[in-house]
Amino acid sequence: MIPDKETSHTLQLSKDEMKQYGYQVIDAIVDHFDTERSKKPVALASREEMDTLFNREVPEDPTDFQTVFDLVTQKVLPNSNIVTHPKSYSFVPGPSNYVSVMADTLATGFNVFSGGWAGSPAAAELEIVTMNWLLKLFKFPKKKGGGIFTSGGSMANLTALVTARGQKLGDDFSKAVIYMSDQAHSSNIKAIRVLGFKKEQVRIIPTDMEFKMAINKLKSAIAIDKLEGLEPFCIIASAGTTNTGTVDPLLEIAKICKSEDLWYHIDGAYGGAAILSEKGKQELKGIEKADSLTIDPHKWMFQPYEMGCLLVRNHKWLSETFSEKPEYLRDIEGNTSEINFYDHGIQLTRRFRALKFYMSVKTFGLNAFKRAVSYNIEITERVEDLLRTSAKWEVISPATLAVINFRYNPLGKNYSEKELDRINQQISEKVVASREALLVTTVLQNQVVLRMCLINPRTTMEDIKETINLCESFAEDL
Ligand SMILES: *Cc1c(COP(=O)(O)O)cnc(C)c1O
Repeated sequence: MIPDKETSHTLQLSKDEMKQYGYQVIDAIVDHFDTERSKKPVALASREEMDTLFNREVPEDPTDFQTVFDLVTQKVLPNSNIVTHPKSYSFVPGPSNYVSVMADTLATGFNVFSGGWAGSPAAAELEIVTMNWLLKLFKFPKKKGGGIFTSGGSMANLTALVTARGQKLGDDFSKAVIYMSDQAHSSNIKAIRVLGFKKEQVRIIPTDMEFKMAINKLKSAIAIDKLEGLEPFCIIASAGTTNTGTVDPLLEIAKICKSEDLWYHIDGAYGGAAILSEKGKQELKGIEKADSLTIDPHKWMFQPYEMGCLLVRNHKWLSETFSEKPEYLRDIEGNTSEINFYDHGIQLTRRFRALKFYMSVKTFGLNAFKRAVSYNIEITERVEDLLRTSAKWEVISPATLAVINFRYNPLGKNYSEKELDRINQQISEKVVASREALLVTTVLQNQVVLRMCLINPRTTMEDIKETINLCESFAEDL
């Protein structure tokens, strides 16, 4: 099938061509879901290899559909890590779900404009409805609370900090100071830089032995800044650090924010979703005290990329921060209950993100999501037991919100710290080179450790045992 030269400027296909094309795409996606377990999760390719495959001049003339499709399914997609794979343990995996994939396909197929009420009343309404589900889940104020879906956690953090600055500081924010722990996610620093704060306006508070923000050090830093005439303005707490899953002392930080009149932002991009489980709910006590909260449905709420979310205690804070009234939008101002999400965040034109959340939760039911998250937390605890009962492994940071860090350190061998770092680094390198599992290292308290983030509900104990065995066999070869 080659697009017709005479009519191709309309960029249209015939009905039959569209179907032929579309069915092949669906077949490829379904086949991927069906067979991914038998594939290897890791893709390794150099720039040179990729250039050899793809680097061509722009094609002026049409190419047969099948040729383009085959190139993509045979060369592009296989040269990408499979983040939905049961043995994809590193970073934060992306264990998506098929219903949301179809929802994204519909949203793109109909190209629904999700910026304002007039563009799609239904898209705005579904964003309001799903946002209300989330507000309730996190015990945010029902009536006053609000929020917005973003491309991801980074954009949610940026949106939060712009809002915080607007609400707390005037035009001159040169004396303002922001506090976060040494385990806070790098996107917060990025956001602060984007906002034009200087490096000296950020205090990185050390963490304790459990990787929680040290409250005493936080209090001291605030006190010193005040004595120096600076203006403490915002604390960013982590509800689930990416490294270890650790939750900062949310209630204690809430108290400090209240007594010092500081903005309380909680970055729950990794761990916020744990609210869906009983254990997680306990860990996250105090999350409801945040002024703004980042969560990231494309992580542990099983949505495909891109979907982040910001929740705020008062929806007016968003409209006060982001409303602009250009002339060309004046005809579409609705009444105030009809929310224009372009007035609540940075983007004007927005894709219809709420649809995938809506369709997947409606189809599977929230209970399925709750069971998935509980399973993830439990299986990580079982992995901890497994490692603790082995003479070869040492747990460095215990199972916390589905993250565990450990290292190879066999009893009786008495390796030096330096040797242990090298051994564990090499285990990871060998596992990745084998492409059997995506398992990379992180550094905790100056130790190189292996880190597993087990948020995929399709990962089984069997998968994990196979990977641990693989690690052991590589370690013994070293
Ligand atoms: C992943 C993550 C982010 C960034 O979110 P993106 O969706 O990757 O932009 C921010 N904070 C934490 C704690 C995260 O784990």
